[in-house]
Amino acid sequence: MALYDKTAHELHDLLTTKKISAAELTADIFSRVEEMEDKIGAYLTLTRDKAEATAKLVDEKIARGDKISLLEGIPCAIKDNICTKGIRTTCASKILENFVPPYDATAYKKLVAQNSVIVGKANLDEFAMGSSTENSGFHTTHNPHDLERVPGGSSGGSTAAVAGGEAIFALGSDTGGSIRQPASFCGVVGLKPTYGRVSRYGLVAFASSLDQIGPITRDVTDCALVLNAICGHDDMDSTSTAAQVPDFTKSLIADVKGLKIGLPKEYFVKGIDAEIETAVRNVAKKFEELGAEIVEISLPHTEYAIATYYLIAPAEAATNLERYDGVSYGARVDGADVVEMMTNTRTEKFGEEVKRRIMIGNYALSAGYYDAYYLKALKVRTLIQKDFTDAFEKLDLILTPTTPNVAFKIGEMVADPLKMYLQDICTVPVNLAGLPGISIPCGVTKNNLPIGFQLIGKALDEETILKAAFTYEQSL
Ligand code: GLN
Repeated sequence: MALYDKTAHELHDLLTTKKISAAELTADIFSRVEEMEDKIGAYLTLTRDKAEATAKLVDEKIARGDKISLLEGIPCAIKDNICTKGIRTTCASKILENFVPPYDATAYKKLVAQNSVIVGKANLDEFAMGSSTENSGFHTTHNPHDLERVPGGSSGGSTAAVAGGEAIFALGSDTGGSIRQPASFCGVVGLKPTYGRVSRYGLVAFASSLDQIGPITRDVTDCALVLNAICGHDDMDSTSTAAQVPDFTKSLIADVKGLKIGLPKEYFVKGIDAEIETAVRNVAKKFEELGAEIVEISLPHTEYAIATYYLIAPAEAATNLERYDGVSYGARVDGADVVEMMTNTRTEKFGEEVKRRIMIGNYALSAGYYDAYYLKALKVRTLIQKDFTDAFEKLDLILTPTTPNVAFKIGEMVADPLKMYLQDICTVPVNLAGLPGISIPCGVTKNNLPIGFQLIGKALDEETILKAAFTYEQSL
């Protein structure tokens, strides 16, 4: 097996036993990038010099006999909406095409402190708005399993990099499904932590009450390692939780005996691909065989989740994106006066989907419609949260499909934004409720396209999610 195909924990063992060097590993990844990048298009910026310098440092440490941390020397991709000091951070938007942040996002900084090798900044849908990376202002990323298909989005570049051997793990962000949906499309593991688990400092804001950074990895063990590395309270993010961070590797135990797992009937309805439904029901059977108890449950407000999300997220986005005015940040297109300059800048530099969200958001927030749309959406959000709170009184986990369909063809949905929004039907309720959720591969369709299932946990209970996910993975 080539080095680029291995997991972080396998590579760590190879590094510490001196079977490989960090420099060799980095060279292997970059030769894979050279081979695949034309076809996949996972990256917006490559940081080879920096990667090689880090690898050298790690090799020096190993040569000295110093202990190295678990992600030290391991190549990773960083979604390009996560600020990296001195490295261009574009959010895949023309408006930030030349933006070089003067500071690091906390989650990234923690990886740098561990000497992880940063391969580059990964493509996304512009400002993380989308489900396919087709909304990137620069190029569309292709799914390594079928190059005619999308990798999902918005963390499509990060996910395709991991699935295509162009990084061992990646950081993505998930506002409504952007880690879990591409993970399921690309056959890898993707976790959205509990809201507040990972600092949002330096994550370019899309919808601040929903955004969360999380790991995209090749297996559950790596997921726990990356989560360990990036979690924790941060004074720079007032919404980051003060809760203790457990050692997530302690959850890597194959044992689900006695766990109560709910199957919400609202997630197995018309519109879900039959092959996905079968695969996810088989996962439930597997958990039952392994000693878990499966219970049919109801989350009655699920049907309102998409509408709620597509009011709240655009409303927050409209506010967050006000700052791109041609003055404080990013690109400027001149005009006769300041108003014309701002108009020209935003008209020319924002893509179609971003403009659509800003318009929906401002409409929902406007004086005449605030109560009818935004305020109502907030109330429904509370009902969706309560559905989960009630369900979790008698459950440990909830099991659902991650997506209603597998990876679709590039171009297939671009003309129909509503259809694209329906991609998020299984993932957005989790963000609205602030809960942790993971997507785990569970086989492929007749056409060999990956299928994923989702496990949703109680707030701050990533441990039970990881334990069940690990148990399933080990059973294969
Ligand atoms: N697809 C969803 C959207 O377009 C989710 C995006 C995300 O999680 N960043 O809003």
